Amino acid sequence: MTTVFTRAAIVAGVIPPIARRFVAGETPAAVLERARRLDERGVGCICNRLGEHYERPGPAVEDRDAYRALLDDIAAAGLDARVSVKPSQLGLDAGESLFRENLAAVVERAAARGGFVWIDMEDHTTTDATLDAFEDSVAEYGGVGVCVQANLKRTPDDLERLAELPGKIRLVKGAYDEPTELAHQERERVDDAYRDCLDLAFERFEGGIAVGSHDPAMIEHAIERHEAHGTDFEIQMLMGVREDAQYELADEYDVDQYVPYGGRWLSYFYRRVAERRENLTFALRAVLGR
Ligand SMILES: Cc1cc2nc3c(=O)[nH]c(=O)nc-3n(C[C@H](O)[C@H](O)[C@H](O)COP(=O)(O)OP(=O)(O)OC[C@H]3O[C@@H](n4cnc5c(N)ncnc54)[C@H](O)[C@@H]3O)c2cc1C
Repeated sequence: MTTVFTRAAIVAGVIPPIARRFVAGETPAAVLERARRLDERGVGCICNRLGEHYERPGPAVEDRDAYRALLDDIAAAGLDARVSVKPSQLGLDAGESLFRENLAAVVERAAARGGFVWIDMEDHTTTDATLDAFEDSVAEYGGVGVCVQANLKRTPDDLERLAELPGKIRLVKGAYDEPTELAHQERERVDDAYRDCLDLAFERFEGGIAVGSHDPAMIEHAIERHEAHGTDFEIQMLMGVREDAQYELADEYDVDQYVPYGGRWLSYFYRRVAERRENLTFALRAVLGR
């Protein structure tokens, strides 16, 4: 999949135009600029510094500090933006206590600056550690949300637990290959599970729900549930995916765009293309200006 474009770009140390559809740029300045532009169109920004599965504490501490600095910059610029962190980016693979310390440092800075921290959810081996860390952070600082995955069979039980806590949840279908005994595999089963989780969340959550999906059917279901229960919700989609729909929905609902940035963009770009071949066509069209 490595094209001449991407190979040349890696050598030159820049993000090629083909990947720029999905990634804001390499620097904090690039993601802040993206947040400014989204703000002009009524869409909030969730800034994710690309990085995951660090085996040593060094890179995790580096990303922790980068997020703290970014939260300072977001507050100083008065931007409608939040950050989203991955547990393995903050050191979970190197030890749960390292992850918890780093997460606390990011959440504490967000609390001091009136900011907000989302915690992404990785594969099922990390679910308990992630939910436990979320529970502690939200109790101590507030201003935190956690992602839950509808494909995991445990998620309805997790939602019951999370409904008792302050903080927000982001419901997604789930991006990881999981064992059959733990996760729904067929697309229809995952969609049904997603709707069931939405029903439960809209009935039970007062802190707010984020619908992390590009699927028009799931978004429509969430809007129906919102109309029935009045529960606050927002729609979250990725940079580069259904952006026209994002801007249109933002006329009526809260919409946040999840915006990756940083030097580790290559594997993220490949994942977007691997999950949907059309993404490559879209990206190519953007490069060719058509
Ligand atoms: C903001 C955000 C945060 C996320 N965070 C996490 C996380 O922390 N952990 C995790 O496991 N997963 C996360 N995910 C990924 C998620 O789990 C799914 O893998 C991903 O969103 C694909 O599912 P979907 O609901 O968007 O739609 P799909 O089931 O992939 O597609 C359903 C329909 O949506 C529309 N659609 C989907 N993609 C496109 C496209 N590229 N262009 C046009 N239409 C499209 C089409 O109509 C399609 O038929 C996140 C997703 C988002 C949007």
